[in-house]
Amino acid sequence: MTGPTDLPSLPDARFAGLLDEAKALQASTVALRRTIHRRPELGLQLPETQQAVLDALDGLPIETTLGTTTTSVTGVLRGSQPGPAVLLRADMDALPMPEDTGLEFASEVPNAMHACGHDTHVAMLVGAARLLSEHVDELAGSVVFMFQPGEEGHHGARHMIHEGVLDAGGTRVANAFAIHTFANLPTGVIATRSGPVLASADSFSVRVVGKGGHGSMPHSAVDPIPAAAEIVTALQTRVTRSVDVFDPAVVTVTRIAGGTTDNVIPETAELEGTIRTLSERTRAHLRTEVPRVAEQIGEAHGCRVLADVVPGFPVTAADETETQRVLDLAAEVLGAERSQRMANPIMGAEDFSYVLQRVPGAFAFLGACPPGVDPAEAAPNHSNRVVYDEDALAYGVAMYAAYALDSLRR
Ligand SMILES: [Zn+2]
Ligand SMILES: [Zn+2]
Repeated sequence: MTGPTDLPSLPDARFAGLLDEAKALQASTVALRRTIHRRPELGLQLPETQQAVLDALDGLPIETTLGTTTTSVTGVLRGSQPGPAVLLRADMDALPMPEDTGLEFASEVPNAMHACGHDTHVAMLVGAARLLSEHVDELAGSVVFMFQPGEEGHHGARHMIHEGVLDAGGTRVANAFAIHTFANLPTGVIATRSGPVLASADSFSVRVVGKGGHGSMPHSAVDPIPAAAEIVTALQTRVTRSVDVFDPAVVTVTRIAGGTTDNVIPETAELEGTIRTLSERTRAHLRTEVPRVAEQIGEAHGCRVLADVVPGFPVTAADETETQRVLDLAAEVLGAERSQRMANPIMGAEDFSYVLQRVPGAFAFLGACPPGVDPAEAAPNHSNRVVYDEDALAYGVAMYAAYALDSLRR
């Protein structure tokens, strides 16, 4: 058996040139991004996007496998020497909303828009695949490219994990990295932190059932409306009274509905909302506390309450060693001023959390604020007017490639 010490040593690191190499690929990276931007697809079935990825990877020394339950694409690039596997991820799905950017490559599909920048993620990961294909002789191990559908609430990562993406390189991936484009940061800035980067997101629904009647005679009815109103305020109080202020949580009621007109007490009222936490402990607490409060407030009003919590994504928790490595690489490859450690997490959620539950890794935001716009004023991700600075793409390509090269040289 040949041990690693018998192998010829790998060429020296060439991280300094990576950004220039990524910039040299910029025309094809931007072209792919615009192709995908024009044809946004939703959820777990993205056939056109999948085909665009396959066409773009065609001719590269990358083995591809397609998802069986979704339109995912897994690519594997094998280095010239054996070693561990590293995973790079891009999500591919769009959002169900109209686009109002006025861009010449704006969405051609009604009520579908790449408003979370996932089109840029696909293009950057393909760019990294092109770039890393030129560096095969410097890789000891495999790079797994995870092109996943269904990030926006559809648990696409879980489907891919179930279908074996973490073992696609022939061995369990040792570490994993994902980049998310962000309009409210200066172009090319990599911002990340360890521990919780993003929150868990569970949704809840509450149905308050009373007894309908005449609006003028509430004593002969059981009115669900004041019960529903009290549940909204009780949930806010309960968060502040039962959750450690240093382990924050957000409970937001986002929908309240009941009744049909001004003189009828309805039989039912409905609430829906979201629960965001930064730890599994507080998450578990609120997943039982929200329905309990709703049920008992309803009961105090003589109503019956049907409350349900639908589990969403877990907390996205990054490894400190991997995060520091990303920050060091960003400083080396993109420049010290572009490497930023975030003070606080963001209460949004990500299904890359499923990968980071199983593999140590990092998740970084990549600034892509349009030129001449104050990052604080830029239309944010998920806005119908969000515009990303395409110059950021080269920085993302270089970061993905640097992370893989660094992981497979050690
Ligand atoms: Zn999103
Ligand atoms: Zn997103």
